[in-house]
Order: sequence, then C-alpha cells, then structure tokens
Amino acid sequence: MPFSNREWHLVARPVGEPKASDFALVTTTVPDPGPGQIVVRNDFLSVDPYMRGRMDDRESYVPPFGLAEPMTGSAAGTVVASQAPDVPVGTKVTHFLGWREYALLTPADVQLVDAEIAPLQAYLGVFGTTGLTAWASLTEVAPVKEGDVVFISGAAGAVGSVAGQFARKLGASKVIGSAGGPVKAKRLTEDFGFDVALDYREGDIAGQLATAAPEGIDVYLDNVGGDHLDAALQVMNLRGRVALVGAISVYNATELPAGPPHLPLAIGKRINLRGMNVSDHFHLVGDFARQAGGWLADGSLIADETVVDGIENTLDAFQAMMRGANTGKMLVRLPQA
Ligand code: NAP
Repeated sequence: MPFSNREWHLVARPVGEPKASDFALVTTTVPDPGPGQIVVRNDFLSVDPYMRGRMDDRESYVPPFGLAEPMTGSAAGTVVASQAPDVPVGTKVTHFLGWREYALLTPADVQLVDAEIAPLQAYLGVFGTTGLTAWASLTEVAPVKEGDVVFISGAAGAVGSVAGQFARKLGASKVIGSAGGPVKAKRLTEDFGFDVALDYREGDIAGQLATAAPEGIDVYLDNVGGDHLDAALQVMNLRGRVALVGAISVYNATELPAGPPHLPLAIGKRINLRGMNVSDHFHLVGDFARQAGGWLADGSLIADETVVDGIENTLDAFQAMMRGANTGKMLVRLPQA
C-alpha cells in the first residue's frame, strides 16, 4: 500500500536568516518498493548547520537544495516495506533522505545500524558525523598532545560537547569551552568536563580567553569563526594547531565579514590553520565507533541531545538550532508506529 508522506521543500533562497515562507511542507505519496527497493519510515531527522549553506545557490562540497524539490539530510529509521532480501522489514538504518516521513531507497543507499549497541538516534549524533568530526579534528587535523591547553567554541553543541570530553581523554591539561548564555556555560563544566566555561554573550571573548589561559592555548577547535577565531589567534602558543571546523557566526551573513584582524600572528607563531571536512576522515569510523561505544557504555562520555517532535516542526528545529536553542545534538523525532 503506498505511503502518504509529508516532506519539506525549499521554495525560495533565504536572504540572511531563513524565514518560514522560504519553505513548504508538501504532502506526497511514496510508492510501494519495486524489486531491489525498500521503504524506510524515518524515526529521527538530523538538522545541521551546514544545511544553511545548501539553501544558497553556490558551489560547495554538498550540492545546494533544489528549489521546489524535497530537501535532504541525515535520517535514521525503520524499513517498513522491502523487496530487498538483505534488508528486511524491521531493519534499522541511516541514510540521506531526511526532511520527510518516508523514503524510497535501495540497500546501497543505507547503512545498517545496531540499535542494541546505542539508541538509533545516536547514529545521527555521537556515532554519526558529529562525533566523528570532533574525534578527527582532535586526532588528525589539530592533534591534541599530552599536557596541551585546548579551546573549543560552540562547546555546548553536538560537535563541541563531545569534543571537550575527547580533548580530556586525549591528555589535555586544560579544556576551555565557549557557549552562549549562563545555563550552557554551567553545563560545560558540570556535565561535559570542561575546566573553564566562557559565555560569549557576555562580550569580549578575547579578554575572557586570555584570562582563562594565561599560559596560552595549543589547540583550537573552531566551530564559530569570526571573533572566536581572532581571540584564539591572539593567545595561541608557538606551533599551535587550529582545526577550522565551522564558522556558524557567519552562516546567515549577507556580506562577507572582514577576516580575523590578528591573522598575521599566525606567521610568527607558526600556527597551523587547517580546514576540516569530516568526509576526509571516514577511515576512522570503525575504530572511533568502538572507542566511543566503550566510553558511552562505561558512562565516561556524555552525549546529550535536544529533541523536537513532529515533521511539521522540522524547520522550527533547524532555526532554533541555528539560534542556539539546543544542547548537544538537535534532532527531530517522528512518531514511531
Ligand atoms: P551545534 O553546535 O549543535 O549547533 C549550532 C550552535 O551554534 C548553536 O547551538 C549555538 O550555540 C551556536 N551558535 C549559533 N550562532 C552563533 C554565533 N553567532 N556565535 C557563536 N555560536 C553560535 O551544531 P553542530 O552540528 O555541532 O556544528 C557545530 C559546527 O561544526 C558548525 O559550524 C558546523 O558547520 C560545523 N561542522 C563541520 C563539519 C565538518 O566536516 N567540517 C561537520 C559537522 C559540523 P550557542 O547557544 O552556544 O550560541
């Protein structure tokens, strides 16, 4: 029996912060699977900062969303109809046809997950690209060495909250995080193992960081860009390492901001500023999953999430995440039959 499906379409390219009128929730029908096909009912959808870039019509490592076409993104769900013997009904999978209730796929489009090891939604967060981004940034892109002082921005978010914990496990002597507001700052030190929490909404992030790290910092995982990157350059030690992971402070900008004024410091300090894309690090997936799985099981890794219910609230969840309403991974949960 075909599946009545609701899916989000981008209908206009946002200028600045996306508005509700840039999107439409459209009802369609997903057909029964043909030979070699499966239908997946999505249980969780991921909303991620990089999706803002896909709303613009410009070249990137992920193609832009088409106008009046279904949007895509990571999702986790359950096979509800199958004509593929290797992926029977009931199998739990992740795939890339998010922003919708039902998806017609082939086995090659999905990754099987073991929901016994971790809850399904963890494969969109700590076991998915966000966890791997944090791990690869601190092991391959800007490797943490024993005794390093590490600074992480966006520290209460999906990448940042686990990155702080990984930095500690990798031997950092001090882990400093920045986040927006006192509630998040408190969570950094109380729940995510940071030594010092900076609240950037208090202003003067450079001054706050200099006070927190009189000995300087050795590694910076940059989720934010802008003033945070400039602050880090000022206190970076000789041969410091920076993983340029994201620049969320400028994703809604309508004009390119000026570059960090203190960039020339990178010359004398021999700072290694390295752009990071998680897709370059998929070779780490197996080892990382075993490692993170062990830490989750023994309780030494906290993977927080913020869950919004209902396909109709997916856009709100995306916008709320961009404004900082989430702690840990922002997810949309759909009713599970
Ligand atoms: P997230 O941190 O869970 O959510 C985004 C957070 O950004 C919000 O919660 C908000 O927290 C913060 N934020 C929004 N505007 C800000 C501003 N102007 N200044 C400072 N912080 C601001 O998202 P995520 O999925 O973990 O992604 C974090 C970063 O990593 C993003 O830049 C993303 O693009 C990047 N990323 C890169 C890769 C890669 O392969 N390079 C992969 C995954 C993610 P506050 O309340 O603290 O402001």
